[in-house]
Order: sequence, then C-alpha cells, then structure tokens
Amino acid sequence: MSIKIDKSSLERIILENHPKRIVFNAPDGLLTETRTIAHELESSHNLQAIVIADATYGSCDTVDVDAQRLGADLAFHVGHNVTIEKFGKMTYSIDAVDDVSFENVAIELSKQLKLRGTKNVGLVAFAQHVHELKNVARILELNGINGVVGKGMGQLHDGQIFGCEFYPAFNIRDSVETMVLLGQSMFHAIGLSLSTGKPTLMLDPYLNEVIDVEKTAQERLKKAVLSVYKARDAERFGVIIGLKEGQIMTDQSIRIKKELESLGKNVQLIALREITADRINSMMDIEAFVQTGCPRISVDGYNFSKPVLSVPQTEALLRVLAGKEINMDLFERKHWL
Ligand code: SF4
Repeated sequence: MSIKIDKSSLERIILENHPKRIVFNAPDGLLTETRTIAHELESSHNLQAIVIADATYGSCDTVDVDAQRLGADLAFHVGHNVTIEKFGKMTYSIDAVDDVSFENVAIELSKQLKLRGTKNVGLVAFAQHVHELKNVARILELNGINGVVGKGMGQLHDGQIFGCEFYPAFNIRDSVETMVLLGQSMFHAIGLSLSTGKPTLMLDPYLNEVIDVEKTAQERLKKAVLSVYKARDAERFGVIIGLKEGQIMTDQSIRIKKELESLGKNVQLIALREITADRINSMMDIEAFVQTGCPRISVDGYNFSKPVLSVPQTEALLRVLAGKEINMDLFERKHWL
C-alpha cells in the first residue's frame, strides 16, 4: 500500500507543452516523491524543475503566481485531486491515489452497523480514497446496508470532501443515519461530523479499525464556541485575509470589517500567508481576530493566545453581539467560507 502520483498525466502535459522550466508544490506527505519525480523529469525532458517546499494543505494552496515569478512555463499542484485540470494561468492539478484496500475494514464496518441496526449510511472520502467508495458500498450492500454516495459539486468528485467543503455529504444527510469517512484522517472526519451534524465513523484501512469521532468533534465544537464568547468583549479586532491563492476573500473580509465597525468595534484589515500563533502574538494591541483564509486554522486546536475566528464563528459572534444565543449547529453547512 502506497500513495502513487499520476506520472502519466505529468508526462502527457509536458509532451504537449514543451516547457523549459516547471514548478511543483505538494503536501508534506508527497514532497519526497514529488522531489524524486522532479529530478527524473529534469533528466528525461531536458528542463529545469523547481519544487516549492512551503507548507501545502489544500487545493487552495496553488502557486500559479510564484511559478510566474520564477519564470516557469508550467506548474503542477500535486495530491489534491479535483474535478478540474487547470488552475490560473499555468497550474495543472496532478492526482495522487492511495492503493490501500478497504475490503477488511468495510467488512468490520458492516458487522458494527448491523449491531447498531443502521440501514443507511453516507459514504465520504478525501482525495486519495475516492476511488474506493464504490467498493465499500458494494460490501455494505452484500450485508444489507445501503451506502449512499452524494453527488460532487464544483471541484469535488462524487463523495469527496475537503476540510472546508462538504457538499456531497451535506446534501445526503437527511437520507442517512450515519456518515462514514474512508481514510485515516481525524481532520476530515471532524469536519464531516460538524458539517452534517450526523454520528460519524472513520474507517482506518491500515489498522482495520472503525473509529467513532463524535467525542473529539464535540470537543472541537465547544472550543470553537468558547472562542466566540471570548471575542465578544474585545474592542480591537484584526480581520485577516488569507494570502494563499485559493483563499483570498477581500470582499468578504471588508464586509465583516464594516459589520464589526457598525457595532462599535475598532477593526484593522490584515493580510497573512501563514496564520500562526507567532504572527498573531506579534500584533499585541489587537484583542481578537477574524480570519477568512482557512477555517480549519480556527477549529483545529492551534495554540492561539487570543480568539481567531473562522467565518462560521464570526457569524455566531455577530449574533451574540446582537444579543442572541449561539446555535450549536454553527458549522452545519456545506461550505465553511
Ligand atoms: S481552505 Fe483549508 S480546509 Fe479548505 S482546502 Fe484550503 S487548506 Fe483545505
């Protein structure tokens, strides 16, 4: 079992475009293989290959502009398999797929669902395991359980989710009793649980375990709500625009600034590429932040010493400032931006 980068698409795109210089970026788990491939392509195609080794978390993390600044003819964004082939002026998305089998863990899932009396489950995966959804549905069906795979939308394939986009899962939530995520990713499983509001199980194909993520998801939710209440009393806010290519939301950030100002808050617009505790701590006079970059930065236990709210939390904050209660379903939505 290993993750395989789609080298044949890379070869095809290079042969079609004859680039002299190419650029890659990839998540950490695929960086070593990406660097190996970059080396190979330099020799086999007589070109220069540059690997941008900055942290890369999602399909929002393309490097189209950096590739242009580096004088490249093409860029390749590896490992966040999406329905579209090309981003921006020169960036191609290159798939990476995990060939681990879900056969055994799907059989274990069937046993556990039968014990619970569950008849209908939503089947969901992140990029590397989307191709296994049909196989898991087939095994469940053999055991009398209906596995529903929601339709894809935008960049998402059928049944696929990102850490901030959940359309295929959200759209089927009323027709299933439980959500099931294929793959070893608490990050995606927590997002799935909070966005659908459904009991959620995670299938770990490496350890053949079925993991109930409910407790962890509820802990994250409580922490996120606590940050909203902490932000309520702040007078000075920073509204952070994420500078990653797929995250820039200037209009929404300005709208939030105006809303907070209309409630008497002092607000400054800030732009950051990496929203880290160090950068937050460097702005000592600001008491609370809102960020429209990656919502997961606010939800996933980063050690910020001040509130750093995502868009759903900011909407909850505006409700609180208007004298209303927070709904605990603030993350039950298709998209967290
Ligand atoms: S914004 Fe965050 S969760 Fe969404 S795709 Fe980018 S890195 Fe993933």
